[in-house]
Amino acid sequence: MSLGAVDLDNVDQKRQHFVILGGGTAGWMTANLLANRWGAKGVSITLVESPSIGIIGVGEGSTPTLARFFSDLGIDEQDWMPECNATYKVSIRFEGWSPGMGVHSYAHPFISQLDTFSERPFHVNCRTRRLGLDVVTSPSEFLFNGWLAERGLAPQRPPNFPFRVEYGYHFDSALLGEFLKRHALQQGVDHRALEVTGVNQHDDGRIQSVIASDGTTLEGDFFIDCSGFRSLLIQDTLKVPFDSFGDNLFNDAAVAMPTMRANSPPVETRATALSAGWVWSIPLTHRTGNGYVYSSRYKDADQAETELRQHLGLMDADVEARHLKMRVGQVREHWNKNCLALGLSGGAIEPIEATALHLVQTGAEIFMDHYEEGGFSDARRGAYNAIASERFERVRDYIVAHYKLNTRDDSDYWRDNRSNMHLSESLRQILDVWYRGGDLTAEIERQQLSSHFGTTSWHCLLAGYGIFPPLAPNQPGEGDLLESSGIRTMFEGSMLNFRGHAEVLSRWQSPMG
Ligand SMILES: Cc1cc2nc3c(=O)[nH]c(=O)nc-3n(C[C@H](O)[C@H](O)[C@H](O)COP(=O)(O)OP(=O)(O)OC[C@H]3O[C@@H](n4cnc5c(N)ncnc54)[C@H](O)[C@@H]3O)c2cc1C
Repeated sequence: MSLGAVDLDNVDQKRQHFVILGGGTAGWMTANLLANRWGAKGVSITLVESPSIGIIGVGEGSTPTLARFFSDLGIDEQDWMPECNATYKVSIRFEGWSPGMGVHSYAHPFISQLDTFSERPFHVNCRTRRLGLDVVTSPSEFLFNGWLAERGLAPQRPPNFPFRVEYGYHFDSALLGEFLKRHALQQGVDHRALEVTGVNQHDDGRIQSVIASDGTTLEGDFFIDCSGFRSLLIQDTLKVPFDSFGDNLFNDAAVAMPTMRANSPPVETRATALSAGWVWSIPLTHRTGNGYVYSSRYKDADQAETELRQHLGLMDADVEARHLKMRVGQVREHWNKNCLALGLSGGAIEPIEATALHLVQTGAEIFMDHYEEGGFSDARRGAYNAIASERFERVRDYIVAHYKLNTRDDSDYWRDNRSNMHLSESLRQILDVWYRGGDLTAEIERQQLSSHFGTTSWHCLLAGYGIFPPLAPNQPGEGDLLESSGIRTMFEGSMLNFRGHAEVLSRWQSPMG
């Protein structure tokens, strides 16, 4: 018998009723995960969403964790990808973040099983380069997904290819929400199109019910706040304080605008630095999604839109821009009393590494584990909150490093980011080890950071930015593990098993020709 079955039965003998407030991606992902794990155990799930308040409607790139989400739900790619105009994503390419070190662009590929052979040589080469020797340190040379991305190949491996390839997706977020809604309803989730205008609380502060504008009252044992930036339950009702990351991360706004689809869609997200932030480029099968994430302290909305239009070549085009505000930070407790916050209601980190849905998914999974172990107990709640806060903070640190290490000199925005000293102790120690030429992998292990961004991701960032000392005057001309370890030969042979991205997508007769 699974741990879940044993422990959930112990939590409470009566039927548990979970109420999810919000039908954005966070709400529907959570509804599916709960229904998948607990639906057959007598737990009932109701999702309430306002018919008039829309979803945020951005958030179109994922990490590889989303592949596990679909596989855990038993949903095949051929069933959801064409319906969501989805494409594959194996990497993120950063353009223009470190021109001062002579770097035009670098990649942060997702790490695949084949990289078991190349990660160590990559780390060693980075250390050798920090000693001043001239060796290759480009992440996309050492990581298999970097090779796929540079050649525009889809990560679909043939059955006889023995190594797992990790990948995420790009998708239309509105279509994904609709797909997840349909699937959740099939799993027995009850859907109510109601606008919540009030909340009843028990004497001890726990939420008893939510009240809709038409007078409907929905009672529940447990409430999951997925109401987006409104944060109706965790902040408005339960008054859990919000800790801003504004001192660490300056970006608080975005403007989004689509362009035509690419005939040959890249298998990577592109993140291009502009004067007060960066622009995402996300290739879908019917359009390319673009958005400028910027700091309103340095640009107002009109200036940002103009800069984005110039960047996209849309100055005279009749394309509507969508402006968004972001509140970056996290609630002090993600699980308070009988309420859990998932998605934007509990916190947001800017989307440069597309981590938000990853945090929703892992947050829901870790919550279910803890809930099964101890129901509403203070111990389980405290343990969950410690994990959730830690995850947000460590993801934040990795993002902060993107800004702290920039070598642009074209605006106060980039200079201020570089001189920003609001760094966590964890991040300071990572940077200190790198600059001292120390063992970064040992430091990441010492800090137990592998479940957030692991050592290879940190190497991609630091080496990608070209954060190295000048070359030593004497070069022995040896010690380059890329050359001596046979990685190129292995990757060249492996490449032959993979097909072009457009070709792979076209098997579903999507709009890609
Ligand atoms: C510019 C930008 C880019 C992003 N890019 C990425 C990315 O690439 N990858 C990624 O993983 N994430 C990204 N994100 C984050 C991602 O968009 C969100 O985490 C995700 O969409 C989940 O949002 P949500 O469901 O929490 O909120 P929302 O989509 O805002 O949904 C809120 C829901 O609550 C409901 N609601 C609100 N008030 C009430 C009420 N009173 N009564 C009833 N219902 C109510 C609404 O109707 C809606 O259904 C990005 C975010 C921004 C701002």
